Amino acid sequence: MDIELFRKIAELPGISGREEAVRAALLKMLKTCTDEQRVDAMGNIIAVKKGKGVRKLMLAAHMDEIGLLVSHIENNGFLRFVPVGGIDARTLMSQRVVIHTSKGPIFGVIGTKPVHLLDAAEASKAPGIKSLFIDTGLDGSEINSIVSIGDPVTLDRTTVEFGSQMINSKAIDDRAGVYVFIEALKKVKKFDCDIYAVFSVQEEVGLRGAVTSTFGVDPDLALVVDATAANDLPATPPQEFNCRLGQGVAITIMDGGSIINPQIVKTLKKLASDKNIKHQFKVSARGSNDAAAVQKTKSGVPVGLLSIPTRYIHSSIETASKIDIDAAVDLTVAFIENACKYNFDY
Ligand SMILES: [Zn+2]
Repeated sequence: MDIELFRKIAELPGISGREEAVRAALLKMLKTCTDEQRVDAMGNIIAVKKGKGVRKLMLAAHMDEIGLLVSHIENNGFLRFVPVGGIDARTLMSQRVVIHTSKGPIFGVIGTKPVHLLDAAEASKAPGIKSLFIDTGLDGSEINSIVSIGDPVTLDRTTVEFGSQMINSKAIDDRAGVYVFIEALKKVKKFDCDIYAVFSVQEEVGLRGAVTSTFGVDPDLALVVDATAANDLPATPPQEFNCRLGQGVAITIMDGGSIINPQIVKTLKKLASDKNIKHQFKVSARGSNDAAAVQKTKSGVPVGLLSIPTRYIHSSIETASKIDIDAAVDLTVAFIENACKYNFDY
């Protein structure tokens, strides 16, 4: 795994709707591994790598991450915020954050009352998001010239390798998918389909970028790569794990947003087995991602879904396995190179 490339992609700030830093960096990277790049009216990147024009294969990974938006500035300088995407308030307590202001990024912390000052009622329950605030170290007289309502806020984390092939970072969801496609676009050799690599916006707030980009591309076939919530944790019985870190890329059969075309599942399984790519299967009735939007576009699109098992998803300590990410790259390359050989009709 190219850990430096992953680090570069994961550490870019880009909450839903404010993906500009990610978009600029990706457009630069895509110049070297695709033939054309364009940005649609929603801000999605659509990068084309030409094959023989047999089919249009869309690849989709979302470039946005969960985060916060400044909603109110207190007279004493503290900031209130709203969540952007699905955030558990318990995971925000005591986090370092970066506020992306028009004057540049500034540092902040999400403060809470220390244990010494809590009364019994306060100590017995976790605070909700409305009781949290950001402390920038600036007081009321200073902050208004720097921070504005609507400034985006990202979790402040760098990427760390640890344990056995593990990687820890903010925004593995879904910069892991972005990394997989960048690597696959570099590695892919012989392919008959034209590749439309979409790096979508606003997935975390309702798959919004995938809706317009799929409509614009009008693909014959699509492959989505996204992080998925792994439940392989202490106290969880094995039958509820749904996927496990280090056991390979998860070929998703069903989640809360889509039931995957069985012919595509079969093809992904065959390619993984033939090429000795470590894989597992995911079946869940919960969770959703761009695949749900892609497959319902126009008169429907056959879509495959590769998932990267991720612990502590939607927090600052998202954790995935390099083994699974590498396997996702290999299976994506295999799918691109063979996608035109299979029939996915019902
Ligand atoms: Zn995601």
